[in-house]
Amino acid sequence: MSHTATVAGIPVDTRHWIGGRRVASASGATFTDHSPIDGAALAEVSRGGAEEADAAVAAAKAAFPGWAATGPAERARILHAIADGVEKRLEELAQIETLDNGALLRSHRRGVMPRVAHNFRFFADWLTNELSHPDFDTNTRRNHVSWDPAGPCVLITPWNAPLMMESWKVAPALAAGNTVVLKPAEWSPLTASLLADIAHRAGLPAGVLNLVQGYGAEAGRPLVEHPDVRRISFTGSVPTARHIAAAAAANLTPTSLELGGKSPLLVLADADLALAVELAVEQYDNAGQVCLAGTRLLVHESVAAEFTRRFVERANALVQGDPRDPATDIGPTIHPRQLERVDGFVRRAIAAGGTAVIGGSPRHDLGDLYYRPTLLTGLPQDAEAVQEEIFGPVLTLQTFASDDEAVALANGTRFGLAATVVTGDRKHADLVTGRLVAGTVWVNCFYVRDLRAPFGGSRQSGAGREGGTWSFDFYCDIKNTVTAQEAGWTRHG
Ligand code: NAD
Repeated sequence: MSHTATVAGIPVDTRHWIGGRRVASASGATFTDHSPIDGAALAEVSRGGAEEADAAVAAAKAAFPGWAATGPAERARILHAIADGVEKRLEELAQIETLDNGALLRSHRRGVMPRVAHNFRFFADWLTNELSHPDFDTNTRRNHVSWDPAGPCVLITPWNAPLMMESWKVAPALAAGNTVVLKPAEWSPLTASLLADIAHRAGLPAGVLNLVQGYGAEAGRPLVEHPDVRRISFTGSVPTARHIAAAAAANLTPTSLELGGKSPLLVLADADLALAVELAVEQYDNAGQVCLAGTRLLVHESVAAEFTRRFVERANALVQGDPRDPATDIGPTIHPRQLERVDGFVRRAIAAGGTAVIGGSPRHDLGDLYYRPTLLTGLPQDAEAVQEEIFGPVLTLQTFASDDEAVALANGTRFGLAATVVTGDRKHADLVTGRLVAGTVWVNCFYVRDLRAPFGGSRQSGAGREGGTWSFDFYCDIKNTVTAQEAGWTRHG
């Protein structure tokens, strides 16, 4: 069987990448990767299990001492070379990612892939320019803080933003001097394969980055249970995170969890309604399959009627269709299971008394996986559609009469990933944002994220923060070395 698929005219080797070599699964097993655009089979991808997990961790362990001993400047040089490779193949990566996960081609070209390159450059530069702590003295002893490489890291990523999430983890892990085993999601595995090629060509030594393709727990569990793994960084759903945290507990492996959300978008009475509507409509990006999406619109009752009128008008003008078409605003959901899940939430919400002001059903005229942008109203705070992450183009709208009520509704789920506040008054913004439980809060904007800032979720939206120093804090063993100075040289301090 051929191990190379041709996707968008580009050859992609769909085997694992272990110890600097392409390898098929020992069992010979593969899985079929489909495009959500039209359901077409894109590739047969190697389906890894315990054997591949063991081999990949062994390769990462063997490569670790050499990479950890490679100086920061050389590590940074290779990371910049990876960024160069991403930029050189940007169009190919964008085309393949769109075919594989159905997000808009124009977003992949203009936003996502440049950001992937930037992730490598940013962490390379942070390593060489920022990662230091001034030495300090305790009486006659000098304290020196260092960020030491930790060892092999397992990085597990979701399907909704594959290469974006992969680079967000791979870049700091490698910059820190660690070696990596990456396991991409089975619904969008292809760009990770190109990343392995790009890293190899950039001069990354064999075994420093390994790739195990495969299905959920079958490939993931043996990786997270492995005793030689020193860090686990996971982005995905809450149920999977529970399995991973339990598996990691056996070895007490430090784990960073970036999970789901049910984020609120608050439109205060003094908001610029045109801006509020634009930000609200943005929540349909990637067919709502965005962890950060502000899927709960919370609108002050005095402006709710006008906001809803304008929102409906704007949302009805969105163009749904093939994500490769520059005119398209909303593409497909990722998989038949996802569409079914989304539709199930909407049907149950309507059966429970909710109203679909717009949408509320699939668009079969476009294909099997397209769901109409939907706005649900008339649901109480404890309704399933208000409480659970739907991960589709479905927003709910609730109204409030006071800031106290707005804050109670905003904080009234088990999640705490993000929140957006729209207001014309800075003091009002401060009063409200100070009371919100969320890893990221935006005021009068959405989705902008500086890599120097901490990123992560509160409550069940995650554990830990990554970004800037926080990434290095997670991926490193931080050590304080206390040295007696000349006057105080004694053996026992
Ligand atoms: P998922 O939890 O189903 O899968 C994520 C990854 O975990 C996949 O690679 C999968 O193969 C793997 N996996 C599954 N079971 C495993 C196990 N037992 N052990 C180890 N690995 C296992 O999530 P998904 O459906 O791919 O992604 C959507 C979810 O990701 C949503 O909840 C979304 O909010 C979340 N997400 C969060 C962020 C963030 O930064 N907080 C970003 C993107 C997506």
